[in-house]
Amino acid sequence: MADYIYTLETRLTPDQQKAVTLVLDTAKAAGMNLYLTGGAIRDIITGFPIRDLDFTVQGNALKLQKDLERAGAVVGGADAETRSLLLTLPGGVRVEIGMARSERYDKPGKAPQMAPATIIEDLRRRDFTVNAMALSLNEGSRGLLMDPFNGVADIEAKVIRVLHNYAFLEDPSRMIRATRFSTRFHWPLEERTQARYESGKENNYIEHIRSSSIGHEIEQLAYEDDAHGVLKAYEKEGWLKVLNPRWSVAKVDTAGLGGLMKTRQQMNELGYTPEVAPAVLHFLTERLGDKDISDLRRAIPRKDLVEAWKDLDSNAHSLAKRLSGKEAATPSRTWQLLSSARPEMILFLAITARKQAVTQKIKNFFTKWRQVQQKIPLPEMTELRITPQMPTYPKIANDVFLLLLDGKLRSRTETLKFLKPLAPPPPPPPPPPSAKRGRGAKAAAVAAVVAPPAVAIGKPGAKGKGKVAAAPAAPVVPIKDKFAAATKPAVPAKPVAAAKALPAKPAVPAKPVAVAKALPAKPAVAAKVSKPTKAPAIKKPSKPAKPTKPAAKAKAKAGAKKKRK
Ligand code: ATP
Ligand code: MG
Repeated sequence: MADYIYTLETRLTPDQQKAVTLVLDTAKAAGMNLYLTGGAIRDIITGFPIRDLDFTVQGNALKLQKDLERAGAVVGGADAETRSLLLTLPGGVRVEIGMARSERYDKPGKAPQMAPATIIEDLRRRDFTVNAMALSLNEGSRGLLMDPFNGVADIEAKVIRVLHNYAFLEDPSRMIRATRFSTRFHWPLEERTQARYESGKENNYIEHIRSSSIGHEIEQLAYEDDAHGVLKAYEKEGWLKVLNPRWSVAKVDTAGLGGLMKTRQQMNELGYTPEVAPAVLHFLTERLGDKDISDLRRAIPRKDLVEAWKDLDSNAHSLAKRLSGKEAATPSRTWQLLSSARPEMILFLAITARKQAVTQKIKNFFTKWRQVQQKIPLPEMTELRITPQMPTYPKIANDVFLLLLDGKLRSRTETLKFLKPLAPPPPPPPPPPSAKRGRGAKAAAVAAVVAPPAVAIGKPGAKGKGKVAAAPAAPVVPIKDKFAAATKPAVPAKPVAAAKALPAKPAVPAKPVAVAKALPAKPAVAAKVSKPTKAPAIKKPSKPAKPTKPAAKAKAKAGAKKKRK
């Protein structure tokens, strides 16, 4: 039997894993059983990216709201009818937690009668077989996949199949969803599903669509990777005018949307993961009138998405203004300004900026200025003992980078001249060999020559793909931006203080934290890089990541292994 928990842990991003842990702990504390449901299960099995996490609890999900908010969740919406919560968890992870419920449709197109139910009953109300699976996250049945409609087989066959003959009649938004999934995965509708779909179209089932479903589908469109492709399919099938009567493919800013996706890709390669949904909505509706846009906004259930969409223009405008002013007078100042700006804003401005100077600065930020990193004399810095083990290393490396950016250090000689006074004094010579013989003496000798600890290296682009290199490796230069783990402005240590801080013995293994600090990646990535184990087992949330003690780590690993068995 497939080990779905293991697959889950390996397929989710670190932030998504933390989200699972957080929701699980919260549900557990409230005494509710929790299941991962919907698209996440489908995508775990197919290998497609997992866009959001849909959970189902046996109980009222609304009761979890306060605890989740306390743990950092932003509530984007709460539905009293379905007792479900729309959340954004740290790291921008989108989560929906719904109550396990049964639905009974007395009249097509009318809201169904809902009642709390078991997870299996809940799966019966779902849209397609590939979406009607649940993975238990509960003690005793953790890892058990519930698949009453054999969705796994339909995933293998790559088809979209409804659960029963009345699926489209009961909820016509499922026809829109069928088009969306079929376009996204390039999976056809299964034969009978196709026949029901055609009949639904002919009989105009769609006129009974509920307004809440329209809002949900507009929202979902924003998160599609190929939103333009889906929009075209909607227009062809006649669904776009259902979402808004005046919406058409002609209203889309195709160039803007294309630019957005291209720049996002470029940013992803550099390790940034901007949330593009608000900007996608902006470009999809660029030529729609104000009234239509406010109608669309009102329909969307996730209010944090709507707010971000509304704020795009003004935020981009103020960033453009700052980039044109004194604050960005030099490359280093521009670098610092852009490093502290939200990636979403940089992305949106990169596409929409009117001033050539602003566009050029953003371009330099992503390309030319990053190459200046290469000019940092890493081997010489190592020789000078300016290594990531130094508490002041991030500050020194960042200062050198900024001076190089501004052309204030024009040659290697000038750079070394700047660096030399910052080097720590050499370590004291090792004590003369003691008269001691035997085991103790041998151990001391080994300690004296033991290499410095392994240094984790990684680059922002290689998300989660850090390698562990044997020391003495070239130290990693922290590019001080929003994604650098260490941003504390450290004052260069005075020689005396440095001497004091110096370890008495050479080669004291650096703590993982110190290594992580020197990494130019997001903290989460850095933590992962510095711990080259398998996918981390789901563990307790909200505690700051402490370096795990080897013994505890081994124990946890053994525990996880045991569970997988
Ligand atoms: P993705 O999030 O990748 O677009 P998804 O399948 O998770 O795909 P969501 O819109 O997030 O889609 O919905 C979550 C789950 O809720 C679905 O997988 C499905 O089981 C159920 N669902 C959503 N809309 C409907 C509907 N109209 N009828 C029945 N079930 C639905
Ligand atoms: Mg989903």
